[in-house]
Amino acid sequence: MSLRTASAATVAAVDRRQRLCDVFGEEYDPDSWADWRWQLRHRLSRPEHFERYLELTSSELNGLRMGMERFAVSATPHFASLMDPFDPSCPIRRQVVPTDQEFLVQPGDMEDPCGEDEKSVVDGLVHRYPDRVLLLALDSCASYCRYCTRSRLVSQGDLEPLPRRVQAILAYLREHTEVRDVLLSGGDPLLMSEDRLDSLLGAIRAIDHIELLRIGSRVPGFLPQRITPELVAVLRRHRVWLSLHFSHPAELTPEVAAACDMLADAGIPLGSQTVLLRGINDDPAVLKQLFHGLLKNRVRPYYLYQADPVVGTAHLRTSIAKGIEIMGQLRGHTSGYAVPTYVVDAPGGGGKIPLQPETVVSRNGSSWRLRNWAGREYTYVDPPGVE
Ligand SMILES: *Cc1c(COP(=O)(O)O)cnc(C)c1O
Repeated sequence: MSLRTASAATVAAVDRRQRLCDVFGEEYDPDSWADWRWQLRHRLSRPEHFERYLELTSSELNGLRMGMERFAVSATPHFASLMDPFDPSCPIRRQVVPTDQEFLVQPGDMEDPCGEDEKSVVDGLVHRYPDRVLLLALDSCASYCRYCTRSRLVSQGDLEPLPRRVQAILAYLREHTEVRDVLLSGGDPLLMSEDRLDSLLGAIRAIDHIELLRIGSRVPGFLPQRITPELVAVLRRHRVWLSLHFSHPAELTPEVAAACDMLADAGIPLGSQTVLLRGINDDPAVLKQLFHGLLKNRVRPYYLYQADPVVGTAHLRTSIAKGIEIMGQLRGHTSGYAVPTYVVDAPGGGGKIPLQPETVVSRNGSSWRLRNWAGREYTYVDPPGVE
């Protein structure tokens, strides 16, 4: 991809857009393409949609035919246009097109790896840490990541619509004065209408002890057209922090850059979350390109996640050793702002545990032997009289 000239890439991109419109028997029209509702209506969501656009492998075809019931399949035309129609190892394609490997259950695979259901205090509210909660706003997304940590809930239709749950959620938040931070996730909260999002955020903001409101979303990457001035105004009004999910540098398109610009220009602090995925981004050069690209878009890499052991995702996961090795290639080798914290969300509900290459070599009383990013060792001595 990087070898292609910019103009050839542009021609290829327009050609893919036309091919995606062909799936629905339509002519490519730039204005329709730029409309997020058009994008949602024209998602690839059935096996025949994918068959018309991609040269499918038998494993993908089986995954598409058998997998839809287990966990919904969907790709916005925007995201699908980044897929290579002829290469099944394409890192964009592998994130959203299922294969029959999803039917393999490995030892240690779990339905609810982070133990969220157990920590659910009211329907759709997870209270694991002392001062902050996770609010599952809705159960649908613009496209479905095959490695979704919440595939037991997302797209399954089991989560009650928010209007039926919101009073219980607000009552819990009002009563629990120790909660100062509310994280909205899901499902993707940015698929809510501006009005509904505005009233939900307003109701939470009206609670005095809630200081921090944040939203986790993949909409800026899957559906950048959704970042409209009206939506940005709602996020700005309620002083929201955003965590954006990106997996690969190819996702940082001009449309995504424009969406990030609108958000950053409105003063909305932007962070990112990335899941470490085998054959997709488990390479220091790819991740460095992603994190540098995010910083250019004023997005601060926040977390790199070890993939959760969700049932049927073993083929997308790599080892913790690989993750630590990659972190060792980032820290010190590039801007600290480009280095997220690598975490494992402990199976069984232990929460996020940070990992990095060992930096403390040994300790002798007040004398610490430390290893730097380049592998050299140094001694730091604590001041006298402190423990
Ligand atoms: C990740 C997570 C949070 C937020 O964690 P931070 O480290 O503060 O970003 C809160 N609640 C739950 C259940 C989480 O999984």
